[in-house]
Amino acid sequence: MNKDLLLFEKSRPGRRTLRLGELDVPAARLDALPAGSLRETPPKLPEIGELELVRHFVRLSKKNVSIADSFYPLGSCTMKYNPLLNESAAAIEGFRDIHPLQDPGRLQGALAIMKRLEETLAAITGLEAVTLHPAAGAQGELAALLVAHKHFARMGQSQRTKVLIPDSAHGTNPASASLAGLTALEVKSGPDGLVDLADLESKLGADTAVFMITNPSTLGLFETNIARISELVHAAGGLVYMDGANMNAIMGIARPVDFGVDMMHLNLHKTFSTPHGGGGPGAGPICVTAELEPYLPAPRIVENDSGLHLDYDIPHSIGMLRGFAGNFGVLLRAYCYLRRLGAEGIQRVAENAVLNANYLRVKLRDAYHVPFDSICMHEFVCNNRNQREQGVHTLDIAKRLIDMGHHPMTIYFPLVVNEAMMIEPTETEAKETLDAFIEDMLQVAREAEENPERLHAAPCTTPVGRLDEGRAVREPILRYNFSD
Ligand SMILES: *Cc1c(COP(=O)(O)O)cnc(C)c1O
Repeated sequence: MNKDLLLFEKSRPGRRTLRLGELDVPAARLDALPAGSLRETPPKLPEIGELELVRHFVRLSKKNVSIADSFYPLGSCTMKYNPLLNESAAAIEGFRDIHPLQDPGRLQGALAIMKRLEETLAAITGLEAVTLHPAAGAQGELAALLVAHKHFARMGQSQRTKVLIPDSAHGTNPASASLAGLTALEVKSGPDGLVDLADLESKLGADTAVFMITNPSTLGLFETNIARISELVHAAGGLVYMDGANMNAIMGIARPVDFGVDMMHLNLHKTFSTPHGGGGPGAGPICVTAELEPYLPAPRIVENDSGLHLDYDIPHSIGMLRGFAGNFGVLLRAYCYLRRLGAEGIQRVAENAVLNANYLRVKLRDAYHVPFDSICMHEFVCNNRNQREQGVHTLDIAKRLIDMGHHPMTIYFPLVVNEAMMIEPTETEAKETLDAFIEDMLQVAREAEENPERLHAAPCTTPVGRLDEGRAVREPILRYNFSD
């Protein structure tokens, strides 16, 4: 049998994995249902035996790549290991089977965990107020920009509509500014990869709403002038927003509030260990100063005489961005992770994330050009400058790594580096894994010299080989042709 058929194609009438016993309760009266709600034909669900079913999904899972089977240095995405303990906590019935519309009296445990998570994130960032509402980092950015906009409107400063964003920022930053109805304005980086202060000063003014900085940046650099930058932005009447998706490099070591940050988001699904390879669910809490708290999205978790509850009636709030209070399963995992590590553990995470990235940077910098070659944070960026003469592109290097059993690094991003390769090992990898990756990267560099054709042909071990990516975009095949 063709191994790649769909379950629907493998279906044979009458096949079952399970047969239900005789009904021992009265059958529902079908005529009690509203007219028109009964289907005329049975649903076309696959009918299949258990063994075929198990093989089908195991086969599919083997085509997947995850942190559970390979090194995954996908820069900016923080593909760290997510402890299994978090998963067992998220599966506890009392947490798994609750609903936000239940009587708050029966939700006290869950609400207490959310409240404590808010307090822990406030302690890590130094910012007073936290909302767990946003479902992703990008939604956190949007929420915070709406908060800023509302704040300025209430202060009679609606003319503040410009969001200044360095060119080394994450791509979601300008997108969020635009979605919030504000105007993104690019600030240049200097030759050291840091914000060009003169360019920033020339763009600050009475129309400045927010200076939005990814710190550490997508180049893996900590913005050493950040305190001075915050002073300049505040003097111009603007707010400082920090994209804190890279907080894994500095948590427990530096508090954003101490270098002038007014608002920021955190990516619980990156820094605080929730699986996110499949694109979600995630959580992008935002942390803000007390001054900005009244505008945070509803609901807020508040305490009164009868305990904790979700308050949807927040007079100056920007409102709701999604259903209910947040992705609770993700929040629970983050809480579990933080409790397990404690303050000291959080600091060690950051130290090891930085140590691992610098280890790779120093071991690889002779083979691969590192344009901003100074001590990096949790990630660093190199490129193919040394391989270009052989006609080897960053894409070839990334594809060859797949044959060697590694997930490739992030490629062609950030845009400020030509043909970038952005490498983030995370703190959860052992030295042996890093050494194996280094060895393979050096092997690829040798192949680029001696046998570049080999790189152009990669990958050779995957179910699908090298695609014509241009054609895939222009003539995408989006439908599967059923064989039935
Ligand atoms: C991942 C990331 C984002 C976006 O977060 P999502 O949860 O994917 O929306 C924003 N900024 C930086 C620096 C990131 O790494």
